[in-house]
Amino acid sequence: MNELQQRITSVRQRIARAAAQAGKTEAEITLVGVSKTFPVEMVNAAVELGLTHIGENRIQEARTKFPQVTGRPLFHMIGHLQRNKVKYAVKLFDLIQSLDSISLAEEIEARCSKLGKTMPVLLEVNTSGEEAKEGCAPSEAITLLKAIDRLPHLCVEGFMTVALYSEDPELVRPCFRQLRGIYEEGRSLNLERANLKYLSMGMSNDFELAIAEGANMVRVGSAIFGDRRNPA
Ligand SMILES: *Cc1c(COP(=O)(O)O)cnc(C)c1O
Repeated sequence: MNELQQRITSVRQRIARAAAQAGKTEAEITLVGVSKTFPVEMVNAAVELGLTHIGENRIQEARTKFPQVTGRPLFHMIGHLQRNKVKYAVKLFDLIQSLDSISLAEEIEARCSKLGKTMPVLLEVNTSGEEAKEGCAPSEAITLLKAIDRLPHLCVEGFMTVALYSEDPELVRPCFRQLRGIYEEGRSLNLERANLKYLSMGMSNDFELAIAEGANMVRVGSAIFGDRRNPA
């Protein structure tokens, strides 16, 4: 077994264990392999090894890599999206996880309306309170959800967060709990267009904790592809 295969197997086993402890099956947790900064050859190898979801955080990188991807994974946009890049994003990606403002949503609406397509999105929430982090404020998430639900070419499928980075799980856990609460509140609204089914939280260093707190989509980069030389 090569190194990539070993790392994917190990991540899958850890997901399966965490899922079981949370009363779920592995199949209920969607694994998104985050390939940012890694060459397309590694993406293709991972897809061949069974990875079906690939995450990238930069439009330019996606534009050069995706045409060379063999196989047919689903592509997730997980990084900050600028308005002037939306025209590319709506064509490149199957799910935009980093929607955090109504102005960005309106730009997606305008682009998708022209293309006659509906864009699945997740709303990114800043649960860590760190100013450098993307995402809307937790207190604004439900208002944003309701506003975006009026846009006919978007479908909100859930929420995403990047938790506080800490070795101490008791500092990270509240971030996940908060997003879970927002997700449950959103679901209880029974909105017209939204189809809230994804709670995207957990990365290489904290995905087991995220699953324990209800995550059903985890975004794992370095634990699969190795250390990034140029961390984004
Ligand atoms: C880079 C990144 C990840 C993956 O991070 P790892 O720590 O390498 O697993 C997940 N989510 C987002 C939004 C990222 O930017």
